[in-house]
Amino acid sequence: MRVVLMGPPGAGKGTQADLLKERSGKPKLSTGDMLRAAVAEGSPVGKQVDEIMKRGDLVPDDLMVAIIEERIKKPDCASGYILDGFPRTVAQAETLDKMLKKHNLALDHIFYLDVDEEVVVERFAGRRVAPKSGRTYHVRFNPPKVTGICDDSGEELVQRSDDKEEVVRHRLTVYREQTAPVLEYYRKQGRLETVDGMQPVEKVYEAISQRLHGAAA
Ligand code: ADP
Ligand code: ADP
Repeated sequence: MRVVLMGPPGAGKGTQADLLKERSGKPKLSTGDMLRAAVAEGSPVGKQVDEIMKRGDLVPDDLMVAIIEERIKKPDCASGYILDGFPRTVAQAETLDKMLKKHNLALDHIFYLDVDEEVVVERFAGRRVAPKSGRTYHVRFNPPKVTGICDDSGEELVQRSDDKEEVVRHRLTVYREQTAPVLEYYRKQGRLETVDGMQPVEKVYEAISQRLHGAAA
């Protein structure tokens, strides 16, 4: 089960990836989480990407590909994984296909969470994240059991610095210009599976899950 979740920032990729991880046991590979961890550690990669992420621009393809390539080689990825936030450019999508092909592998499902821009903006405003685990909540749509505290890790939830309105607007432009063409890349090959991302979290999950199990049956 090699699954990709696509969609604009705020579409619900991380939320669905968390559920898939919880219920399938497959690892969630979130490039955003990996980069934020590198920034928090102050590693050389972290230093390189900090400013780029604060602006809401994309990290260079060669660095992203190197990070993903190293990650999917790890043993926990042998029976599949859930990609959240990668690929984000056509070059990344092409390289991922080539990387998998070398090992006679391919992506099994590419889900596009289709969400209107006004809805996405509303979601950003209330998004809160657990900084270490990367688990995502929403103050109204997906609240934790105890306000401000992650259900799993007990960490205090924070608002991401790039979820401020000016940065969000820029990220949406970057998405339209650089990531939307990836949807076309997969659509042309007949591989894109569109899911209505404006439904409640569990309904979106059901739609994804039906396609996953339908394919396995
Ligand atoms: P969101 O969940 O809002 O879509 P992410 O957590 O996936 O955001 O990404 C946060 C930031 O990390 C992006 O704005 C970008 O700077 C960087 N990033 C994450 N994934 C990639 C990628 N595949 N290519 C380039 N930059 C990336
Ligand atoms: P992405 O990873 O695509 O940027 P997230 O999964 O972080 O998106 O979701 C963005 C925000 O919207 C979060 O606060 C999340 O709790 C909330 N959210 C996610 N899915 C839904 C949904 N189906 N309905 C309402 N809110 C949602």
